[in-house]
Amino acid sequence: MIIRRGIQERSRGYAALASLVLFLLCCMICGCDGLFEQNNAPTENLQMYFPPVSESDAQMEVHIIDVGQGDCALVRGGGANILVDAGENGLGSRVVEYLKSIGVTRLDWVVGSHPHSDHIGGLDTVISKLDVDNIMMPRLPDELVPINQTYTDVLDAVEKKGLQITAAKAGDVFTFGDMAMQVLSPSINSNYSDANDYSVVLRFVCGEFEYLTTGDISSMVEIDIIDNGYDVSADILKLAHHGSYTGTCRSFLNAVDPMYAVIMCGHENDYGHPHDAVMDRIYENKISPIRTDRLGNVKIVCNDGVIDVYALD
Ligand SMILES: [Zn+2]
Repeated sequence: MIIRRGIQERSRGYAALASLVLFLLCCMICGCDGLFEQNNAPTENLQMYFPPVSESDAQMEVHIIDVGQGDCALVRGGGANILVDAGENGLGSRVVEYLKSIGVTRLDWVVGSHPHSDHIGGLDTVISKLDVDNIMMPRLPDELVPINQTYTDVLDAVEKKGLQITAAKAGDVFTFGDMAMQVLSPSINSNYSDANDYSVVLRFVCGEFEYLTTGDISSMVEIDIIDNGYDVSADILKLAHHGSYTGTCRSFLNAVDPMYAVIMCGHENDYGHPHDAVMDRIYENKISPIRTDRLGNVKIVCNDGVIDVYALD
């Protein structure tokens, strides 16, 4: 059984609220495609996957890096550092600064969940300033591939480093010591009309702990993932699309059954994220929200049967 602990330090004047809440519970189209490598990695059957080492030794950290209205998280486990998204344009330096402050100068993987600026805007800076071993992004249909400076900047940074992009493919599993990174979406058969729905969905498994991150997918994709037979259960769920009503449907939330819901959104953002309908579901399911607009940077430590949450600012 995993014990949930509340936030250890708080900031921004939301201590009481947080405590209560926690307690209660391309170079344009062709150029860019050329940077995608042929993904020949063996696809394993996720249903057959078991974490490779004893649970008691496994430790995973998830650093939720506050980039305002955007996504950025670092997952550490099995000796690996994996960055998922890097916020808007201009925020890459903030991400690099944070990573260096915790001693991270090399990233095993950098994942761009999908090519929207609030997710990949800062990636070019991260890629150029740090040592990066691998890049993963979704391969979009031609008509959804963005033609803009943000995406071009990322592709240029990838090219300058002599890297190639690994196309996210549901079913792939990457292991790092005692941690596994499972790709749950998009699948080869995905056929969506919105780039958000091609977001890379990753489930990190480290011993008895799981972290599920969903980019900006809609509930249609959430249901597709369940229908495809993947185990989505997780202790910590990064809510899709900054807590928008377009995602986090009841069926998905019940299937994931998390203790914590991470919501990355800007303070008083223009979209009203997170939406009330989603927050109602969170509270009904007695899930503790972790909101960057209220807590800033947050470190989640999963170790020895306990999940500790630290607000760092
Ligand atoms: Zn977004």
